[in-house]
Order: sequence, then structure tokens, then C-alpha cells
Amino acid sequence: MTQAVLPTYNRTAFSIESGDGAWVKASDGRTLLDFGAGIAVNSLGHCHPHLVETLKNQAEKLWHTSNLYRIPEGERFAERLCEATFADTVFFTNSGGEALECSIKMARKYQAASGHPEKFRLITFAGAFHGRTLATIAAGGQHKYIEGFGPAVEGFDQVPFADLEAVEQAIGPETAGILIEPIQGEGGIRTVPGKCLKGLRELCDRHGLVLVYDEVQCGMGRTGKLFAYQHSGVAPDIMASAKGIGGGFPMGACLATSEAAKGMVAGSHGSTYGGNPLAMAIGNAVLDVILEDGFLDHVNQMSLLLTQKLAGLTDEFPDILGGVRGKGLMMGLECKVANTDMQAACVANDLLVVAAGDNVLRLLPPLIITADEVSQAVTRIEAACRQLRSSSATA
Ligand code: PLP
Repeated sequence: MTQAVLPTYNRTAFSIESGDGAWVKASDGRTLLDFGAGIAVNSLGHCHPHLVETLKNQAEKLWHTSNLYRIPEGERFAERLCEATFADTVFFTNSGGEALECSIKMARKYQAASGHPEKFRLITFAGAFHGRTLATIAAGGQHKYIEGFGPAVEGFDQVPFADLEAVEQAIGPETAGILIEPIQGEGGIRTVPGKCLKGLRELCDRHGLVLVYDEVQCGMGRTGKLFAYQHSGVAPDIMASAKGIGGGFPMGACLATSEAAKGMVAGSHGSTYGGNPLAMAIGNAVLDVILEDGFLDHVNQMSLLLTQKLAGLTDEFPDILGGVRGKGLMMGLECKVANTDMQAACVANDLLVVAAGDNVLRLLPPLIITADEVSQAVTRIEAACRQLRSSSATA
């Protein structure tokens, strides 16, 4: 492997050369079923015809202008996102980390604009992952990502996962808000109970705090609703989105109510590329498909099927697998062997999956998968379990 690429990832020996729907062709000649979707990014699968057509058309028309000019496709995309959510306004970014940066800055600025510049701290949760920028590694609070990068960005107070009482105790005179993933992704597909979100909303309302959701991984149809918070009906003030929002085109967004965004005025934030015409055309195209009648019903049907079949596997392999977690097509398989061994065994059986925290294996298929593909994936996981069982028996 070349040293010309900074070695910050443990990569597979093969590369992926092409993709079609839920399938990819690898450089070693194999065809694999993709239940990782680029870590919840390729929500419409690989090379979805509507996205390919949109990309080609827009590529021949206009790629980039600047946020110095009006961008009609972006205005339309923002209006559609607002229409479908709690939000009144949107800032577009190129990634999830940037969407979080915007969210964090907005939360602080809201307090400053409300006469409380001293309130800048955000309460976050153990197991969280919010990105790899200096502020977002501090927000995530994970030592392995913070260590060696100098003093952590000040202003994040971490409490145990979904612990309402701990949140209440952590609120102080400098607290600006609460930042939470409604379903933790990297942390191991851990769903925050609706009751907890409701409690956080009440705490925010009582103490004048902003509630910020990170729906970078769990949003954009992944859980069977457009956004995961819509299962509980507990709306945030600010929300970060990315990953699935571009279906593979690098893109993110920070959505907010006009009240929460009141401090963000001309000059207070910016991005050279964020919301450029090429990205916005694709964002609209992704939304066209996700908002089609029946699309989210399909996600829920496939989720049910996958859950049932996985439950069968957990019964068959109690020595290898624990329970099944998650919502929609954001599923986690609890592993009793190392989840990285499980991931390798799945890949050896031509199934792409992604390990996560809490010794969980993530299943994040494209939202367009068919019942037959669900069955094929489960057959491959079963084969992986058999191999792990026989290799542990011979060890
Ligand atoms: N927030 C969550 C919940 C994520 O899962 C991720 C990425 O995995 C991020 C933020 C960071 O997104 P990006 O890698 O696009 O910067």
C-alpha cells in the first residue's frame, strides 16, 4: 500500500472498482453485497439512475459559483428540507464534521445574541461521535481521538449515555445547550429512548438552552422516517445532517429554527464550496427519491424482514451473536466474538459491513435493497458465523 496516502485508515487490500445498486465489484475480481453503504452514505445504492442523470446534466451546466451569488437549486433544496422538518433555515456544508461545527457555533451564537455570551458549553454523551475537527473530537469526548492534538477545545461536558439526571446536574451558568445523536452510530447503534429526548427538550425549555441533534448518520430516511427524531416527535432547535443527504456526493447541512439561528447573520459563518450548484442539484435529486410515495414504507418493510431474519440467526448462533439493535435500516448486531473478526468473516463471504463501538457490527444497507438482497446478506452472515464457530472450535 502506498505511503503517499496518509495512513490514518486500516484499509482492505482490495479496492472497489464499480458499483450498481447494492452491489460492488472489487479489484480482486469479487462481487460483494454492500451492507455498509460507505458508512450510511450511499442511501440510494451505487449509481442510482436519477442521481447519475442529475450529476451529468448539472456537470454540463454549472459546477461552482460562490455563496456571493444566489444559488436557486440551494434555495429550493433548503425550502424542501424546511418543509419536511422542524427547521426554518439551512446552512449547507461539505461534510458532517462541518455541519456539526456550524451547529456548535450557532448554539453559542444564539446565547450571545440572547444576551448570554457567557453560555457557551454543550452537554454531550458518552459514546458519541461528532466528527474529526478539533471542536467535534472534543464534543465526542473520546480519548483515542483527542490524545496528542494539544489542549482539547473548551466547552464540552460529557455525561453518561441517555442519563437525564446526569444532564440536569451538569447544567450550569455557562451551559448553552445539549448535543445528542438520537441514535448513536459509531457508538454502536444505541437508540436514545423517546422519553429521554422529551426530557432533554423540557430541560432545554426550562433553562433557556438549545437542543442540538446530530443526525449525520441516522438521518435522511435511514431509520424509516426522513429524520430519526420524527419517531419521537421531539424536535430540536438545531440539527446537523450529512452522509445520506448527498447519496455519495460530499455534502452536509445545518438545519435550524429561525429563533436558534438568530445570531447567524451575514459574515458570521461561511464556506467556499458549501451549497454549490453541483451539490445542490444532487441534494434535490436524493430528496426526490426519498420523498417519493412509498419509499420510506419500503425501508420499514425491509427493516422488518432483516430484523426477523437476524433474530433467527441470533437464536442459531448464541455463542457468536447477542441481540439485534437499531431502527429502520440502521441495524446493529451485538457480537460475542470480536466485531472486527465478524466484519472480516462477512467480507470474506462477500458482504460489506462496518464494525462500531460496543462490539457491535453495523448493517447499513442502501435503502433501496430488495427482499432477496436481505436474504442473501443474512445467508452470508450465517456463513460467517459458521466459520467463526468452527475456527473457535479448532483454536
Ligand atoms: N456525526 C456523526 C453521527 C457521524 O457518524 C459522523 C461520521 O461518521 C460525523 C458526525 C462526521 O461526519 P464527516 O465524517 O462527514 O465529517
